[in-house]
Amino acid sequence: MFRRASAAVIGWRITGVDADDPIVVPVPEFVHPLVGGWVVDVTRHGKVMGIVVRRQRRDETIDVHFGMSGRVIVNGRSPIEELAYGASDDTRWHRFALRFDRGTLVLSDPRRFARVTSARDRADLGPDAWSIDRRTFRERLSGRRTAVKAALLDQSVLAGLGNMLVDEILMKSGVDPRRSVASLDEATVTALHRNTRAVLDRLWKRGGSHAGDLAVELRRPGAGCPVDGTPLARANVGGRTTFWCPKHQV
Ligand SMILES: [Zn+2]
Repeated sequence: MFRRASAAVIGWRITGVDADDPIVVPVPEFVHPLVGGWVVDVTRHGKVMGIVVRRQRRDETIDVHFGMSGRVIVNGRSPIEELAYGASDDTRWHRFALRFDRGTLVLSDPRRFARVTSARDRADLGPDAWSIDRRTFRERLSGRRTAVKAALLDQSVLAGLGNMLVDEILMKSGVDPRRSVASLDEATVTALHRNTRAVLDRLWKRGGSHAGDLAVELRRPGAGCPVDGTPLARANVGGRTTFWCPKHQV
């Protein structure tokens, strides 16, 4: 039903993207380059809807996972309006949108279980970072020799953590982002798991599109660590701009 309704956007050109919700769109970087492209198909794989976008002769597919309460609204109309309890909509629930030359496609989800990901990650998406238990978290990390920052960002290890959230989790856990996963003791892995949950829980309670404390307050030159005031270090770790405290993150 979602697919049929969304097929209306085939042939439309993308003029803008709203992908600011870090829980629903953990890695927004893949979406932004699609502005200027055209929707050439809308597919369905199980519960996942794929929006195929052609840009500069290359096709990219945006996967929309609806979760328990997500739904698509095209130009203000939802195909399951009559089935949805309440059938109401609230712009605060709008977690993702594609703006077109001829309208908009909005992903609305009051509970934020929906996810928007790249189809390139479809085959090997790891378990969802928000709902993973401690044992599975430890198993996903075990045996890896990459930097802990790179491992937490790797969507095939854990799905759902973006660059800024990982920096915040590492800061709360007192872990240097450059440290090898293999060097982490059990207490540290437990702290990382706990803080992953805590950061995502807090984002959820705030609603909207907060990108995390570290994103808002600290991602600028000369910012001081919220724990001890030490000027933060900045470097490229795991291919991404990374901020950390050289004093308490060891
Ligand atoms: Zn510090």
